[in-house]
Amino acid sequence: MITSFHPPKRTLMGPGPSDVSPRVLEAMSRPTIGHLDPAFVTMMDEVKVLLKQAFKTENALTMPVSAPGSAGMEACFVNLVEPGDKVIVCQNGVFGGRMKENVERFGGEAVMVQDAWGAPVSVEKVKAAFAEHPDAKILAFVHAETSTGVRSDAQALCKVAQDHGALTIVDTVTSLGGSELRVDEWGIDAVYSGTQKCLSCPPGISPVSFSEKALAKVQARETRAPSWFLDKKLVMGYWGGEGKRAYHHTAPVNSLYALHESLVILQEEGVEKAWERHALHHQALKAGLEAMGINFLVDEAYRLPQLNTVLIPEGVDDAQVRSALLNNFNLEIGAGLGDLAGKVWRIGLMGAACNRTNVVLCVSALESTLA
Ligand code: PLP
Repeated sequence: MITSFHPPKRTLMGPGPSDVSPRVLEAMSRPTIGHLDPAFVTMMDEVKVLLKQAFKTENALTMPVSAPGSAGMEACFVNLVEPGDKVIVCQNGVFGGRMKENVERFGGEAVMVQDAWGAPVSVEKVKAAFAEHPDAKILAFVHAETSTGVRSDAQALCKVAQDHGALTIVDTVTSLGGSELRVDEWGIDAVYSGTQKCLSCPPGISPVSFSEKALAKVQARETRAPSWFLDKKLVMGYWGGEGKRAYHHTAPVNSLYALHESLVILQEEGVEKAWERHALHHQALKAGLEAMGINFLVDEAYRLPQLNTVLIPEGVDDAQVRSALLNNFNLEIGAGLGDLAGKVWRIGLMGAACNRTNVVLCVSALESTLA
């Protein structure tokens, strides 16, 4: 007979999911109530307020999509790209490639700006792409590329788009809560994230936010968004104006308790303080790794504190080391993706998992495994 599943106790220091804090797990285990229950609706309003604080935005359309980060990505593209729209898509890792897929599947034309894996998106190349394609309607890029550990200059990239009258779609799945992100100040029009990285929630929810300009484009669409579930015009009936809710889909009630709790934790700490904590522990991890002769893939100026991509030392077996860490220390670190497979490890310091104990565990476990 199959019996209940009890997962092993791990420390999650990979590219996500990250460790979920006990407070969030406890919140998630509270009794399920109806998704239109007045108490739940009040909590939804609080989630919106807390998400606005986390994103640093006043956008009225700020809400969690009831599905993982990939659905947040699709929600942005499916609503904002209309057939024939030209979209400048920046690719410097795995996730820019998925943006291209989204543009093309929704009938748009993707103009690609390519940068090396491990380098940030080049602002100069984006300027050149707009010069060549002045009719581009949208600029899309990944703020924090999880496949490489690179941070791109979202503020400068958004400025280029604004100078050309284009909207921006920005992936902040790995940046939200972990490093500086200012949606309104930087002029981001559509942003999506995930709960499983620096918010330290279980995976499966994707916070998104649309500016007034983005919303105006959605309202002015000549064609229906080719997705019923992700159509913002429809889902706003459930997540829209304060306190008024009509059934759209059955919200993942307990996952939203979890998101609420994680955002309360972020509010208690302060968003800027959370960014500082990630930077601090990144420095400690860096010192420990470099003392072992382990070097970073990414130039110091563009490194993400929450996702440390390091070069696997010569002669070391990638899979063997990761299995030893898992089996002997219950410690998960991430493998390289795509072209970087076998060449790098991705060490996450995300959200609740970004703490001194985990830095010490990771450095000492790696040291003894590599000895
Ligand atoms: N974008 C980035 C930068 C990511 O790191 C991820 C997941 O790791 C996604 C999008 C997709 O999110 P999910 O796996 O939650 O669908």
